[in-house]
Amino acid sequence: MRLDILYRGPLASCNYGCAYCPFGKRKDTREQLATDRAAWERFVERVASLPADDQIGVLVTPWGEALIRRWYQDGLARLSQLPQITRVAAQTNLSGPLDWIAAAHPDRLALWCTYHPEWTTLADFLAQTARLDAMGVSYSVGVVGQREYAEAARALRAALPPATYVWINAVKALAYTADELAAWEAIDPLFRINAQRWPSQGAACGAGQRAITVDGDGTMRRCHFIKDPIGNFYDASWRAALVPRACTNVDCHCHIGYVHLDYLELDKVFATGLLERVPVPEARRAAGVRLPVLPA
Ligand code: SF4
Ligand code: SF4
Repeated sequence: MRLDILYRGPLASCNYGCAYCPFGKRKDTREQLATDRAAWERFVERVASLPADDQIGVLVTPWGEALIRRWYQDGLARLSQLPQITRVAAQTNLSGPLDWIAAAHPDRLALWCTYHPEWTTLADFLAQTARLDAMGVSYSVGVVGQREYAEAARALRAALPPATYVWINAVKALAYTADELAAWEAIDPLFRINAQRWPSQGAACGAGQRAITVDGDGTMRRCHFIKDPIGNFYDASWRAALVPRACTNVDCHCHIGYVHLDYLELDKVFATGLLERVPVPEARRAAGVRLPVLPA
């Protein structure tokens, strides 16, 4: 069985304080952290119990920052060593220690790193990405497409090796001018994919069949954007929930969702880097790869 699992536990806190984020500088209590740890460790045990010939991808999509917590570091390292794991990845602000990666399988671990120029320096962030390079870990880096971050995003792009992909998350509430679109696209050749709301109602989507979300108590949903549960990961019958489904939302505009929309064929753009958002080399240059366009 081939399945990607997006895990989001009860954690809801972060060491950074981005103004637009509800988790900025929020603190979990000791009890809440203990609950989060127990939920994550239960999840890791469950994945570890799956057959060795399954092909499981895991992406941790926390509310807040998970990789400053030892239990996530240890769990990611352990998952990466399992034969049934094809990729284990996490979204992170990359502020935490990276020494735990020494215990991980570098070919299976990957990180989705967001650069927050108001909370770290470019030099400190680049020191962290250089460590990932030295350890052979796949990663993407990116910046939220706020106008005030444009200069920092350009500086990041210029400082990183050309082969390192830099994504820009389009802020859908902003009406970018044509010049702004071109400027963001000069940093991220795939920016227009993310800047689009892709029509999805009634469309075939792998979410719920090839990919699911699992929360701290095991509740399975097809994706983070449709709240109806489809099963529980800790029930013996959980695999029966993995069936084809058409999307019930009007549109889909987040990478972790629309990459599963069949008609976009983004598996050809991202291939094995789908979870950590690393496109194939041709797409990093937007050359030689057919990119999706809005249906007529
Ligand atoms: S780093 Fe991420 S989780 Fe933390 S405050 Fe900023 S946007 Fe929110
Ligand atoms: S298109 Fe997006 S919202 Fe619809 S099922 Fe797929 S991932 Fe979920």
